[in-house]
Amino acid sequence: MQPDARRDLSLAAGPANFSDGPEDLVLYAYDASRKAHPPEAVVRATDTAQVARVLAAATAHRVPVVPRGAGSGLTGGAIPVDGGVVLDLAGMNQIIKIDPADQVAVTQPGVVTADLQAAAEEKGLFYPPDPASVDFCTVGGNAAENAGGLRAVKYGVTRDYVLALTAVLPDGRIFRSGRPTMKSVVGYDLTRLIVGSEGTLAVITELTLRLLPKPEAKATVNALFSDLEQGAEAVRAVLMSGMVPTALEFIDRTSLKAVDSYIGLGLPPDTEAMVLIDLDGAPEVVAGQAGRLAKMLENSGGHSVQVALDPSQAAELWRARRAMGPAVFNLAPNKFNEDVAVPLGRLGEVLRAIEDIGHRRGLPIPTFGHAGDGNLHVNVMYDAAGGQSEAAQQAVTDVFAKVLAVGGTLSGEHGVGLSKLGYVGAEIDPVALELMHGLKKLFDPAGILNPHKAIPDPANL
Ligand SMILES: Cc1cc2nc3c(=O)[nH]c(=O)nc-3n(C[C@H](O)[C@H](O)[C@H](O)COP(=O)(O)OP(=O)(O)OC[C@H]3O[C@@H](n4cnc5c(N)ncnc54)[C@H](O)[C@@H]3O)c2cc1C
Repeated sequence: MQPDARRDLSLAAGPANFSDGPEDLVLYAYDASRKAHPPEAVVRATDTAQVARVLAAATAHRVPVVPRGAGSGLTGGAIPVDGGVVLDLAGMNQIIKIDPADQVAVTQPGVVTADLQAAAEEKGLFYPPDPASVDFCTVGGNAAENAGGLRAVKYGVTRDYVLALTAVLPDGRIFRSGRPTMKSVVGYDLTRLIVGSEGTLAVITELTLRLLPKPEAKATVNALFSDLEQGAEAVRAVLMSGMVPTALEFIDRTSLKAVDSYIGLGLPPDTEAMVLIDLDGAPEVVAGQAGRLAKMLENSGGHSVQVALDPSQAAELWRARRAMGPAVFNLAPNKFNEDVAVPLGRLGEVLRAIEDIGHRRGLPIPTFGHAGDGNLHVNVMYDAAGGQSEAAQQAVTDVFAKVLAVGGTLSGEHGVGLSKLGYVGAEIDPVALELMHGLKKLFDPAGILNPHKAIPDPANL
């Protein structure tokens, strides 16, 4: 970074919020994608006006700026691939208000999602988006990635809860979009555009988020299947039943084997799949629906069906799913973690195809996830030191080809970041991609905001 750029950025941030010390450059080189590239400086964001000053200085000096929440992104969105500045928003972590009458929360972007959930619950309210990273990710990062999570089947994703936001353009102009109302159709919907734009169009500095009344009761039901297709059919039967589960998770045989050897579930050896369902609502409704679901799973070929109506029993049923993250590393030391989503009717076919790809490439591919919205976490496990990297990359390409062939999408919730850039052209219509490049140019003519993320550079198409 040129000395005059460094000086102006430090002045804009306030010298106490600017660092180019070696320890910060190492710390801010990473996110949860395990990719890394060091920035040249780190700015700790304090308020909207300061973010505006920093972005204006960065545009003036053509210095790239990469917004960052908690760095829990799985696709490298917060990696400063061109160096420049990492803009750390985690310190802007105030919940400005929770308004039970309007059923909204107004927050800064660095609020940890679980903290917002807890604060809403204290007022009898409920913030539904629930990524598995909820204890450490931020609402700003969730908005930038349009994060999903376990409860998306019933409650949708982050985009469904962002009513309004304040954001800063790369040239330093501040704008508000949306209203704190349940409906608003005035003008183009910039709020929905910014949500999911992976920090490439504007930096979000305030969010108005929709809250719901807190559900009174919960129940969990799970079942094992000795046949994968029957498990996938059971998912469809539940979705067609008129009952709307909060979560509807599917765990395949390879995942179950890994978790069984990790925490000792004692599963029957012929187990091909587990289906795990959460319900919420009024206590009498939830208890009745849990009983109906248990019968439905049995009728679909499920066995060992269990129902939990209290939280400690439910936690026991969720034990296998929650241990899945670390358990898969029993299979191999490295993984490509994909989060494709497929049309609901093609779930069984895609699951079987992923098994076949695993056999063909000689790699375990444990697959589990939010089957209720067709969103599967496909974990291609491999041993880089053992020379399996190329086979693993080919397996990912095979999985993407199958997913796109059935009308699915490369990412249901983790975003494109850096990891999936090379595949975007296979999913997105060329004219739609041209429009996206036009939008990027409109918001960020100098190309300084989170460059080379989310959509491929036109030159690389
Ligand atoms: C164990 C684990 C489990 C996970 N489970 C889920 C899951 O169930 N569902 C799911 O959807 N994701 C999941 N994730 C992925 C990740 O937690 C989400 O993508 C999350 O939304 C990222 O939030 P963050 O604050 O860490 O953002 P970061 O990783 O810091 O940033 C993510 C992206 O958002 C941009 N960004 C961050 N803040 C802002 C801002 N204020 N303005 C503009 N752009 C910004 C960054 O530039 C980057 O492109 C998981 C990750 C881990 C490690």
